[in-house]
Amino acid sequence: MDPREAFERTRGLLKEHHEWMKGTVNLIASENVTSPAVREALISDFQHRYAEGKPGERVYAGCKYIDEVEFLAMDLAKQLFKAEHVNVQPISGAVANLAMYTALTDPGDTMMCLSVACGGHITMGKKKLGGAAGAVHGLEVEYFPFDEERMNIDVNATAEKIAEVKPDLVTFGGSVFLFPHPVKELSEVAKEHGARVAYDSAHVIGLIAGGQFQDPLREGAEVVTASTHKTLPGPQHGMILCTKELADRIDRAVFPSMVSNHHLHAVAALAIALAEMLKFGREYTAQIVKNARALGKELYDRGFKVLCPEQNFTASHTIVIDITEYGDGQELEKRLERANIILNRNLLPWDPREGRHYKHPGGLRIGTSEVTRLGMKEREMAEIAEFIKRVVIDQEEPEKVAVEVREFAKDYQKVHYAFESETEAYEYIEIP
Ligand SMILES: *Cc1c(COP(=O)(O)O)cnc(C)c1O
Repeated sequence: MDPREAFERTRGLLKEHHEWMKGTVNLIASENVTSPAVREALISDFQHRYAEGKPGERVYAGCKYIDEVEFLAMDLAKQLFKAEHVNVQPISGAVANLAMYTALTDPGDTMMCLSVACGGHITMGKKKLGGAAGAVHGLEVEYFPFDEERMNIDVNATAEKIAEVKPDLVTFGGSVFLFPHPVKELSEVAKEHGARVAYDSAHVIGLIAGGQFQDPLREGAEVVTASTHKTLPGPQHGMILCTKELADRIDRAVFPSMVSNHHLHAVAALAIALAEMLKFGREYTAQIVKNARALGKELYDRGFKVLCPEQNFTASHTIVIDITEYGDGQELEKRLERANIILNRNLLPWDPREGRHYKHPGGLRIGTSEVTRLGMKEREMAEIAEFIKRVVIDQEEPEKVAVEVREFAKDYQKVHYAFESETEAYEYIEIP
């Protein structure tokens, strides 16, 4: 391959991606767009630097500004989440979970959490499934009994199972997270039987910041792990909140156990995103949840089997559709992508029982974080629902619908709920 050509081609592909994004509606529940100030921090010189260890006690020289920024990020997170201790060094949510497992358990211990089909994340998976909990940290994994009707952990059955299994760690949270988990109801039982209590807030940490979901630290969780780029519109990075008692164990499990360099540009970007959430988070996340409920209702009214209609579809940024009457999740995900509507297929809790697996699942997962960030409200949710219906139920040619989606998206290019929003959300930033 000619190096010059490869260089030009890579840059060209980046620009094409940006152009494409400008004309799409992005409903991936784990994604979001950052403010121009966050993007600026990500391309700063911090990305060239190393700073192992805690701020103020680094193993590298040249860190005086870097240290100050990391202290700022920690203080902002402590304020926002009323946390006794914060670690902003995990480079992703997956790394945050591995650090949490390392701090709280030994290989061979047992963790109780959600199965992947019921919304658990692959980092919580068993060894035979290649999940990080089993395959990397050597945990035995037991699943929470799940109430499929209410799409939540079954409290009574779980309390009984905790008493029987006596897990060393109980981890709440997941990737399909429609309603607050019964942390308050189950933490005491877990602790009485000798378990530590953790909460994986990767998807909902932004909603927690905005006071729109639950407050796991007040409900009994000792450690909260997070990604910082889902409902929290920050850089792709991770974070851990915990009690004072566990601070040293968490810090040591992050460094030196899990990270060397911890991506200092992302720490700076996180500080900015946390400041934005302190200022705009309540308003932003209230609209995210309103939009998710509105989109659920609009889709339901058009004939889609949106889960949990009797619970208003969701209390978070996410809704789930049982799509089996129209095809399989993968086929419909692809069809919608051709119409410039980007979302992802997802397992339904009962899929494994009915012989469906993750490649061809029965569900679609839809999130409203990104469209809300671009200023959309309930009215726009009705328009999005109509586009989805035309592609999936009316079987209109996706390419034809794509033309209209592009036109629709034109009015939603600016980032809202941020200090500065002059640069458009999907603009390719060229350095002259
Ligand atoms: C996304 C996610 C993670 C992993 O986060 P990354 O930042 O992608 O590594 C962990 N747990 C849950 C529940 C998630 O949804």
